[in-house]
Amino acid sequence: MADVLKTTCSYCGVGCGIKVKKDARNRVYVEGDPDHPVNRGMLCSKGMNLHHVVNNTSDRILYPEMRWSRSHPRERTDWDTALDRAAAVFKSIIKRHGPDSVGFYISGQCLTEEYYIANKLTKGFLKTNNIDTNSRLCMSSAVIGYKKTFGEDSVPVSYDDIELADCFLIAGANPAWCHPILFRRLEKHKENNPHIKIIVVDPRKTDSANFADLHLQIIPGTDVVLYNAIGRRLLDRKQIDHDFIKKHTEGFEKYRDLIKSTSLKNAAKICGITVDEIKDAADMIGASQGFITMWAMGLNQSVIGSNKNFSLLNLSLITGHVGKPGSGPFSLTGQPNAMGGREVGGMASLLAVHKDLGNPEHRKEVADFWGVDEISPKPGYTATEMFEALEKGKLKAIWIVCTNPLVSMPDVCRAEKALQQAKFVVVQDISHRSDTVKHADLLLPAAGWLEKEGTMTNSERRISYLPKGINAPGEAIPDVEILCRFARKMGFRGFDYATTEDIYREYSQMTKGTNIDISYLGYDRLKNEGSFQWPIPDYRHPGTPRLFTDRKFHTPSQKAVFNTPYSTENASIKPDSNYPLILTTGRIRDQWHTMTRTGKVSRLKTHYPEPVLEINPVDAYICKIKDGDVTEIKSRNGTVRVRARVTDSIREQVVFLPMHWGKQLQNDHSRANNLTNNIVDPLSKEPDFKYTAVSVSRYQKP
Ligand code: SF4
Repeated sequence: MADVLKTTCSYCGVGCGIKVKKDARNRVYVEGDPDHPVNRGMLCSKGMNLHHVVNNTSDRILYPEMRWSRSHPRERTDWDTALDRAAAVFKSIIKRHGPDSVGFYISGQCLTEEYYIANKLTKGFLKTNNIDTNSRLCMSSAVIGYKKTFGEDSVPVSYDDIELADCFLIAGANPAWCHPILFRRLEKHKENNPHIKIIVVDPRKTDSANFADLHLQIIPGTDVVLYNAIGRRLLDRKQIDHDFIKKHTEGFEKYRDLIKSTSLKNAAKICGITVDEIKDAADMIGASQGFITMWAMGLNQSVIGSNKNFSLLNLSLITGHVGKPGSGPFSLTGQPNAMGGREVGGMASLLAVHKDLGNPEHRKEVADFWGVDEISPKPGYTATEMFEALEKGKLKAIWIVCTNPLVSMPDVCRAEKALQQAKFVVVQDISHRSDTVKHADLLLPAAGWLEKEGTMTNSERRISYLPKGINAPGEAIPDVEILCRFARKMGFRGFDYATTEDIYREYSQMTKGTNIDISYLGYDRLKNEGSFQWPIPDYRHPGTPRLFTDRKFHTPSQKAVFNTPYSTENASIKPDSNYPLILTTGRIRDQWHTMTRTGKVSRLKTHYPEPVLEINPVDAYICKIKDGDVTEIKSRNGTVRVRARVTDSIREQVVFLPMHWGKQLQNDHSRANNLTNNIVDPLSKEPDFKYTAVSVSRYQKP
């Protein structure tokens, strides 16, 4: 490894630059990269402890393991035997049950090259669109929002717009904990410019909300009503951009009629806030010169997630705050490469380079590029559908890459039973700490961060190259190598790449002439000049920080579209006398996803040593619970037992659980997703992790 290796943090979608060095004992350590445009030398608690994850390999999967039947334990095997078996089983299942009987479930942690190869393999060669990603669980509603508003999944904004804006609406996100470096930039901007306004919409008083000028502590699920009411106030006060609406949008009349029918008084009642709070929010937005909305899971993870996105995006359109410095709608991606996955079509409903599976011309273009007869027009199973298909016996084999669904899926006990019913389960991952590993018939050891090369795209469309610095432990190999070797065992041509760069080159050529053109951006520029924001339409192009500056959108009419929310009602199962409280789940500051990496760093456990239930003092009193009591939380789907934290930071009739803990790291009753249900948004197919009816009581040992 070079004395200093420049790379990118592998946790969240902020995409901070990291310098990796080695100490006298040959162990790596990390520092924030002061020259990186995203973080300017800063790192959050997770990023600054990344080296502990790399240096401690005690949990790593070191060699392939296989079992011939479920009644036998897995045993060590070699790569050839493992992949021969995988190919033989996949061929046999496809022969008997057809290509749609197999599927891949991948991850926003995957590098772009890995995502690309997994898609090419599945959609092009296995002839099924059964490939979906855990990003389905966090941002697919935002994809729908962007596509229907701008014509493509195009995030128009840059982090550098933060310092140019004077009003922020942060909706369903707690960037102070979950996108910390981005939030540090916002804090600094506010310190330097006390007049800027920050509005946070969240049922919890988070650190982000505490920093805000205005906290709208709404009842979960009422976001659409709130944003329509804000639209109404802007309309009434004539604080809308008529010129932009007239020249550059369509669908305004229908939207105007909808918001005109929204009474502020009624909206305030539905949302559980005051009319003045709605007016204040609208007046801050109306007075601003640069308005940015930021949102994450609180908006997306909902049965009306697409609607929530539409209603928020409409506020940017009505005020004309798109394509201008310091303005625009900015969805914050959770995972480090959720955006890269979207670019290569890493979801059941997408094709590479923002092409649509439902479009026959697009399918032909992609098939021609890959040199295959056709891409199946049949939509693949999305994340929750994949597990339902396993349960029904329609899906026989599943290949899980770099994700831990047995902690992260909604209604996880059901997902666990579904996985047990699969005929063949392949798990390709780095750590034995994943609950999912236990169910693998074939376990494949993958190389992790720093142990392989590739690219990622962060929330602001910034592509970074991640170099290999150290060797993977044991017999672990890069994910692309595993997938390509499997493809060759299946007899598929077109997977004999000499290097990862060859894969990148192939994908980047596919982008030529499209709205995400990176065909002129090679590994050489990424290595020598650093990261770039797409599109990069010629060899010397510096990248594109901001989209739609010409106000020409990617729709057929080149106009942005007001999408009238099809429902303001949260269609999830409502609380009743048996389950009177609303559970919302989320992340905590120092842990990442299912803790397979952050969970092994002891200093990251001090903040939250165990999962706790946040409950308001009024509800705690009604439920006869004191701070620190072990509580039993029940929903129609399952049970969780954790200690209570009685706090007025959460509104009455709402409780909160962190989503990170699984059975393996705690116990059977610590998984928040024992409680959630798998009802999904009809357009985005994203599940609702923010609205589950539950009961809470003090737990008494039988
Ligand atoms: Fe890593 Fe995200 Fe923290 Fe940056 S903010 S150091 S990308 S976890």
